[in-house]
Amino acid sequence: MVPLVVEDLWKTFPRGDSPVTALRGVNLRVEHGEFIAIMGASGSGKSTLLHAVAGLTNVDSGRVLIDGQDLSELSDARLTRFRREKLGIVFQSFNLIPSLTAEDNIRLPGTSGAELDKHVDQLLERLGMQARRRHKPGALSGGEQQRIAIARALVCDPAILLADEPTGSLDSVTGQEICELLRQLCDEQQRTIVVVTHEPHVAMWADRVVVLRDGENLAEFDTRHINDPQEVASRYQSLLRVEAS
Ligand code: ADP
Ligand code: MG
Repeated sequence: MVPLVVEDLWKTFPRGDSPVTALRGVNLRVEHGEFIAIMGASGSGKSTLLHAVAGLTNVDSGRVLIDGQDLSELSDARLTRFRREKLGIVFQSFNLIPSLTAEDNIRLPGTSGAELDKHVDQLLERLGMQARRRHKPGALSGGEQQRIAIARALVCDPAILLADEPTGSLDSVTGQEICELLRQLCDEQQRTIVVVTHEPHVAMWADRVVVLRDGENLAEFDTRHINDPQEVASRYQSLLRVEAS
């Protein structure tokens, strides 16, 4: 089963007298165990695409298929459940619940039980957060909070891990640690990962970069053998230049 297929996706925000078309026929296909980065300038439609893939926003036309399931065919109640079971989402601002401990933030979307406890233990261990499990988010660094947010996203063993600018609130060293962690989750556990970013040093960790421009697919390039953010930056810039000329 292909974890993610996006077909000819269109989305316009009404916005009074001047509607904004954020997605203009976007296509995307992500294979199992693939790690892709969606790049594009601010306003190019990256977050709108991610929200559409996550079933968090309605689209005007086109389809999103997660593990073969067309999201538009699900009722609201079933979509909510489907999203919880199939998707893990990580945001720039972590979005943890301040009053809950780290481990309870991870547990939140699931149910209680011995199996869940074991899974939470494994995640805390894998993400190096065992010693911090009883801390609340306010007592954790940004990098630690993002690790907990990633653990929370993985607790239901999702088909896809989605992340919108996951390093955007972190310093560069911590940001690289989070990227490295995502890379390891892909390599070790064959996680399927879609990261939205405008930063070459984040995109560098992916297998493939998909470039959006003004809500359209502009181009793609392979990053499996690129370990230099400068090279990603120059490829990305040259694509934008070619298009503009
Ligand atoms: P990116 O994540 O690449 O910066 P977005 O997907 O957030 O881009 O936005 C794409 C376009 O859609 C922008 O022009 C933005 O202003 C517009 N847009 C996004 N969300 C909304 C919204 N809720 N209402 C109106 N316009 C929006
Ligand atoms: Mg965005």
